[in-house]
Amino acid sequence: MESVFYSPTRIIFGEGSLKRVGEEAKKFGEKVLIVTGKSSAKKSGSLDEVVNSLTSHNLRVEVFNKVEPDPSVETVEEGAKFAKKCAVNVVIGLGGGSSMDAAKGIALLITNRGSIVDYFGTDKVKEPAIPIIAIPTTAGTGSEVTKYAVITDRKKMLKQIIGSSHISPRLAILDPLLTLSMPASLTANTGVDALSHAIEGYVSTQANPVGDILALKSIALITEALPEAISQPNNPKIREKMLFASMLAGMVISSAGAGIIHGMGYFITLHYGAPHGLANALLMPEVMEFNLVANPTKYKNIAEVMGKKIEGLSEMEAARLSVVAMRELLQKIGIPKSMKEIGVKEESLAGFAKTVSKNERLLTLNPRRPTQEEIEEIYRKSM
Ligand code: NDP
Ligand code: MN
Repeated sequence: MESVFYSPTRIIFGEGSLKRVGEEAKKFGEKVLIVTGKSSAKKSGSLDEVVNSLTSHNLRVEVFNKVEPDPSVETVEEGAKFAKKCAVNVVIGLGGGSSMDAAKGIALLITNRGSIVDYFGTDKVKEPAIPIIAIPTTAGTGSEVTKYAVITDRKKMLKQIIGSSHISPRLAILDPLLTLSMPASLTANTGVDALSHAIEGYVSTQANPVGDILALKSIALITEALPEAISQPNNPKIREKMLFASMLAGMVISSAGAGIIHGMGYFITLHYGAPHGLANALLMPEVMEFNLVANPTKYKNIAEVMGKKIEGLSEMEAARLSVVAMRELLQKIGIPKSMKEIGVKEESLAGFAKTVSKNERLLTLNPRRPTQEEIEEIYRKSM
């Protein structure tokens, strides 16, 4: 069967690579907008470092530092208005997935008319965005190498996906030193998000052989490095493994897409404020359990790279060990055991399931197509 792998972003990777940002941005233009969150980049010193590198290359710099976690339509539109007023020709997204996604939304609104809501969906963006440089400070979303921006529509209470190669960053600068400041819970939540990308992309109906290699490598690295990143938060070598793994996982979903872990998790974020990665973590074991039968070989491979001994087992027995390995890992890194523990109420689940069951794109990408009742059942089992 035909398959596609597409990964157009140039990547500069390694400790200290942030200092390259000035000389690199200069290749794209002379007026730069930095899009970032409200405080973490300022506090860690990374914002100042970027500004200094840019100004030392005689670039003019503007900063938009209003991006909230799970950025809203309103924030992206406010940023775009500011970007147009300043006539910038390069946008840098500095921060977690939220800042990088907001940067993508802002950059596309400079070359495409109308509102950001006009671009929700797949391949709706007509013109290439102005050049985007993505600089992650979390090791999770992989947004630095994806063609997606996830924007929250608070009026409709939906997390909407813009999927377009016109918003793939032209350059990603991955400096593990920027992730040292993450507290343990952020490290855990974002690390599991990356793991969910590797797994959902690997078993996706649009999986491809190149992505599969990256996915298995990513899963193996995260299984080993994520507990270490929490117990030794100041070790840059371990942070580097996580940042590398999350980038690989981003490449995987950029071609293969995600599945119902993401589709279902969005509602736990929207209605209960759970960080994106945590929402995925709470649903992942039960979704894996549900999906297993659709592709036991791949789940067997997941079990194996997560360190399970599979010799002598049937393929289904081995596949089931992937769920065991996942539960063990989640427990090791301090993820709550159930959605109930974070305050999710039984009575909201039917409504969530109904909305998820209308998300045709994610249902098609998921290896086993669930009915509305089955989605509700997976939510219930995750309580
Ligand atoms: P966020 O970008 O939402 O950041 C979460 C919090 O972490 C913020 O309060 C932020 O602070 C803080 N923070 C970020 N970096 C650091 C750091 N180095 N040290 C201390 N604190 C820090 O988190 P994620 O990276 O998990 O991004 C989640 C978003 O990305 C969701 O909206 C999700 O849907 C989306 N996503 C996008 C994908 C894509 O391909 N585009 C793929 C998967 C998820 P501050 O706000 O002050 O910066
Ligand atoms: Mn994700």
